[in-house]
Amino acid sequence: MASEELGPEFFVRLRADLLIIGDSILTDRHHASNGNYDPTDPQNQIGGIIPSFSLSGWLRHGTERVVQEHGATACHPGEVNANFRKEDVYSRDLEAGYHEKGACLDSVDDGCLILDLFGGIGNRPGKIMRRPIQFNPVRSKVDYTRGQAEGHYRRLTRKIASRNPNDGRESLRVVQVDAVANLDGAWYLCFREQKPAFVGLLAEAVRFLNEHQTDFLHQLGGARNFGGGIVDCELINPLYTERELRRVFDRRGEETAAMADKDEQWERDYLPEFRSALSSHIEGRTGG
Ligand SMILES: [Zn+2]
Repeated sequence: MASEELGPEFFVRLRADLLIIGDSILTDRHHASNGNYDPTDPQNQIGGIIPSFSLSGWLRHGTERVVQEHGATACHPGEVNANFRKEDVYSRDLEAGYHEKGACLDSVDDGCLILDLFGGIGNRPGKIMRRPIQFNPVRSKVDYTRGQAEGHYRRLTRKIASRNPNDGRESLRVVQVDAVANLDGAWYLCFREQKPAFVGLLAEAVRFLNEHQTDFLHQLGGARNFGGGIVDCELINPLYTERELRRVFDRRGEETAAMADKDEQWERDYLPEFRSALSSHIEGRTGG
């Protein structure tokens, strides 16, 4: 099988004009502070880390949709015995393409693909490792082969103004949010254990998310009504060398002939194999 030659590492290219991560972004602004740091000064070249929680949820939602498109149900992310505030919503989810989290363990040891990949029940580790993304505004400091990105941190301020004409739009409340603008980078994913169906699912989910990037449901992070989290994404050809991977992000360089050949090879010799492994797995034709 062509697929057996591949390593466990994959990179997804993510491009977004604006990303707001609710759980906040970790910055290294303390390096630049020295007591007089101004978070809104565009001269501040601070980098940071986008935690993987939101990224993982976004990817997971894409994989759930792919599984459902194959006519199967996906593992619900919520524990069955959790005290959901909206019990009726949970049961409605179960009628709309989901099975109870972990119910799949009754029939298959590793559970369904979603549980197997993302883990969850009883400290069961997911077989796909999702790393945070380190970003930096200075492109020469970005190492794409380590899953980093170019990105510009800003703290945005939103004012909620009074609607009463007498107040002259006086601010009722000021909200500050952390944002990364002009993000372009590689998200590093690694399989703890590799199954061809996993690769098929990853490829299909990334394709699905790219096609649905402006759907509210499939935007990433917050401020979705304001265009936050519209993500252009693609699975970077796993056949590329590190040098070729860097070239993907080089605005001056074009794709080399070798890269074009590898793209063709990936589409022709690899992807179909992974896709059919995915279909077979979901339809229960193989255990793999
Ligand atoms: Zn399941």
